[in-house]
Amino acid sequence: MSDPSRRSLLNMIGVVAGSAAMYHAMTELGYAGESNFTGPIKLSPPPPGSSVLILGAGVAGMVAAMELRDAGYQVRVLEYNGRPGGRNWSLYGGDSYTELGGATQHVQFDPGQYINPGPWRLPYHHHAILHYVRRLNVALEPFTQVNFNAYVHSTNHYGGKPQRYRQVQADFHGHVAELLAKCTKQSALDQTVSKEDREILMLALRDWGALNENYEYKKSFVGSMRRGFEVDPGGGINSVPVPSEPSALSDVIQSRLWSAIASGHNYEMQSAIFQPKGGMGMIGKAMGKDLGPLIEYNCKVIDIRQDEKGVTATYVDSRKGGEKRTASAGWCICTIPTPILSQIPMNVGPAMKAAIDQLPYMAALKVGLQFKRRFWEEDEQIYGGHTYTNLPNAQIGYPMWDYFSKGKGVLLGAYTFGRPAYIAASKSPEDRIKDALAHGSQIHPQYMSEFENGVAVAWHRVPWALGCQGTWTDQRREEHYNNLCALDGRIMLANEHASRLPGWQEGSVLSALDAIGRLHARVMKP
Ligand SMILES: Cc1cc2nc3c(=O)[nH]c(=O)nc-3n(C[C@H](O)[C@H](O)[C@H](O)COP(=O)(O)OP(=O)(O)OC[C@H]3O[C@@H](n4cnc5c(N)ncnc54)[C@H](O)[C@@H]3O)c2cc1C
Repeated sequence: MSDPSRRSLLNMIGVVAGSAAMYHAMTELGYAGESNFTGPIKLSPPPPGSSVLILGAGVAGMVAAMELRDAGYQVRVLEYNGRPGGRNWSLYGGDSYTELGGATQHVQFDPGQYINPGPWRLPYHHHAILHYVRRLNVALEPFTQVNFNAYVHSTNHYGGKPQRYRQVQADFHGHVAELLAKCTKQSALDQTVSKEDREILMLALRDWGALNENYEYKKSFVGSMRRGFEVDPGGGINSVPVPSEPSALSDVIQSRLWSAIASGHNYEMQSAIFQPKGGMGMIGKAMGKDLGPLIEYNCKVIDIRQDEKGVTATYVDSRKGGEKRTASAGWCICTIPTPILSQIPMNVGPAMKAAIDQLPYMAALKVGLQFKRRFWEEDEQIYGGHTYTNLPNAQIGYPMWDYFSKGKGVLLGAYTFGRPAYIAASKSPEDRIKDALAHGSQIHPQYMSEFENGVAVAWHRVPWALGCQGTWTDQRREEHYNNLCALDGRIMLANEHASRLPGWQEGSVLSALDAIGRLHARVMKP
């Protein structure tokens, strides 16, 4: 899609669905989506004794630490949590998580079950993060973005009954193909389509929309090969398939369910997509293991000072506070999320300070629900992928591992941004779970009888992130982005928020590589 048309589409989404949806669409549409990874970084050995203090052991901090260590720097990493990974995080049975406000959730999932409260997918073209996945031997498996047999659902249309994605897609394509074929036949497109191309276009429309020989989208065998049959073909006698009846054009348009069709079309969501086996947190774990004692855990940085000789961070125990300690180095890479960093005293120049202070993080909610059995597979033949709904839970994600396994499964019961996510953050975790159950049961009636336990992460209440990703606008980027990324004295920032792939680990890695490259160049300057 060219830039102008992409912009107008984004504007349209902004008008219809609000700015948070537009921003999300921006990253999802790949507006900021291409990776500029050019291969593994190679830093020359620095002068002996060169040292870097890294604040935060998320993906950005750990990539910086691995590469600087390998080049010969003395590296020390201070991390708030008792584990590596930051937003790269999976929750398993036995884990506890305390959010801002003090509510603690004790995850009760069975062994083998988990939820990724943050990142969950790795597009095939995110070369930088995939480089580290390979380097650290993290096992991957496929992530299914589009499942033709999952649902699209609106409480206001089709009597509130969930529709299969394939039906909506086939009907939308079919009706649009028929309309376009009519225009083409009536020579309405003569100015844009040459006579010669017209015939080919008609053939293409028939093929794309499953039209009949009169270029109509009607109940047919070929149409049912797209949308599914009323009665599937069988074997032996009584085996004749019965085609299904397409929805009327107006119903398809009015339902707005077509908006889900594009979910797998944009660059970031196109196959192949991957996920680490056993949870996204496997990447953070592997990086943490590689760095070993270089990371000091449970260290809450509360002050950052620089002078002409180096940088000193003051920190306390993140669990119990108490005695203040300090860590110093010649240089500092700071990966602390901006909503937190803006509250930490730090003597950087006014341009970087303004850039940090203006960058809030977006609200997001994810809810994981464990059920006694995988009823979505057993009863509804949904294996992976997502259901989309106009209810506040917005999305249901089906586990994309252990298909056909007997017994329990954990669903992603809600994945929302913007307003619904803010509202959810104002409720207790128990109420967020109750809401997700009430919404999801309108799609899967099995919910209430099969539910066992759940966990709800509202990102505005995550104490070490205060949101899910940096919320840039074009105007803010224009004004502040370069100042956020510039070396300020001896301090350089890295994080997804210092990249043009916000909300992706690829952005975190690229930001880290760019930051250490520029820092190293500065260190090597006489
Ligand atoms: C809901 C959601 C969905 C996402 N989906 C995807 C996806 O599908 N695919 C994808 O690739 N990416 C996705 N992302 C984005 C991805 O999670 C981030 O880009 C990436 O994990 C951020 O890494 P980072 O190192 O830049 O920042 P962080 O992971 O935030 O690292 C910062 C570190 O600083 C630490 N810290 C904070 N305060 C202090 C302090 N005072 N002192 C010391 N340490 C501190 C934190 O604990 C953390 O470890 C998603 C994110 C969210 C929230």
